[in-house]
Amino acid sequence: MVKICCIGAGYVGGPTMAVIAIKCPAIEVVVVDISKPRIDAWNSDTLPIYEPGLDDVVKACRGKNLFFSTDVEKHVAEADIIFVSVNTPTKTRGLGAGKAADLTYWESAARMIADVSKSDKIVVEKSTVPVKTAEAIEKILTHNSKGINYQILSNPEFLAEGTAIEDLFKPDRVLIGGRETPGGQKAVQALKEVYAHWVPEENIITTNLWSAELSKLAANAFLAQRISSVNAMSALCEATGANVSEVSYAIGKDSRIGPKFLNASVGFGGSCFQKDILNLVYICECNGLPEVANYWKQVIKINDYQKSRFVNRVVSSMFNTVSGKKIAVLGFAFKKDTGDTRETPAIDVCKGLVGDKAQVSIYDPQVTEDQIQRDLAMNKFDWDHPMHLQPTSPTAVKQKLDYQKIFDNMQKPAFVFDGRNVVDAEKLREIGFIVYSIGKPLDG
Ligand code: NAD
Repeated sequence: MVKICCIGAGYVGGPTMAVIAIKCPAIEVVVVDISKPRIDAWNSDTLPIYEPGLDDVVKACRGKNLFFSTDVEKHVAEADIIFVSVNTPTKTRGLGAGKAADLTYWESAARMIADVSKSDKIVVEKSTVPVKTAEAIEKILTHNSKGINYQILSNPEFLAEGTAIEDLFKPDRVLIGGRETPGGQKAVQALKEVYAHWVPEENIITTNLWSAELSKLAANAFLAQRISSVNAMSALCEATGANVSEVSYAIGKDSRIGPKFLNASVGFGGSCFQKDILNLVYICECNGLPEVANYWKQVIKINDYQKSRFVNRVVSSMFNTVSGKKIAVLGFAFKKDTGDTRETPAIDVCKGLVGDKAQVSIYDPQVTEDQIQRDLAMNKFDWDHPMHLQPTSPTAVKQKLDYQKIFDNMQKPAFVFDGRNVVDAEKLREIGFIVYSIGKPLDG
């Protein structure tokens, strides 16, 4: 029986390994993590992350060929294939702080693998890492090898939170990069065989190591760039009377552009896009390519601009001050169908409103009040007045918003600011609301 161990039981490690386990009943998969609360949650009825479909997959194979454990060293030592899916955040201190990826967790995982291994291993980069990381990992492992053969593969993960299970069941592609040596190619083949249990062969792409590592950063940069492009267009729409939804539809009909990822919004969030672009910018600068670095930096600048533009619109619409005004923020996670609040644009929006002394209430059916409190504390809100948080009760989640009732209870004029173009603006205007939909003329 092939044994797989995945180091890191997070948003990537948990779901990816659960899908491997369910698709490959003859493979034993153990997901390990240094965080006991996280592993306890994976072994409980309430999984540590919310993803549609995840519960069913985990519960179908947990205890059979899928296991979650804090006994990191034991399971690493026993594995044939080790996925490393630890976090790779942006550095906050030292050289490259604010841009470079912090590989502390990766390096300590690699050193631990070298310490405990007694048999040959395939080590798979699942985390998103800077191009050339495999070279560093190879050095760490081979300099401590004790005669053990290590093959490093890059197998970046392209799942999107909110659709992780769907993405893993039917990936657009699986990318595997390996060394062009006989040993490297043998390892590529071994990993290909795992995915071949459910992914059609034509969707499994093999490349050299550096192409695979760089493709992940490139994919996220292109996706984020598309959001910033449509958001930049949304500002121009508001200035000219064009409607961004109509513009997106019109351009998306061009088969060279395509319709996906063309929704204007208050900006992208999540733990990956900004981090990976900053990382790309850093790599460009290190390779003496400042113009290329500046090009990608602009994607983040537009994203920041969009968030502050939204806040400014709220404040200016409400007669240039929100001081003492009660504002309900509906939705706090960085996008729908996830409870993940990492880098959510909602934090910047709330910060802007609180900065102007609004009384903000936050509600999100997927995010606990504790989590919201932690995020606000971490983001150093300037508290000189109370912040009101709505408790997230399951009954409240199921209730539909009664806009008529809400309108009746509000001070007039009553405003709705839609940062994702999800409300029925016409219906709300009929009730009497003034509605601002991002990228659309104020009167509709
Ligand atoms: P995460 O923070 O949710 O999970 C990482 C886990 O690794 C944590 O539970 C942490 O405790 C554990 N860990 C750290 N060091 C460890 C060690 N030495 N031994 C054992 N466990 C250790 O992160 P994530 O969102 O799952 O992301 C992981 C990687 O995948 C990142 O590089 C990220 O950029 C990339 N990625 C994320 C997504 C996403 O949507 N979240 C998608 C694609 C790729």
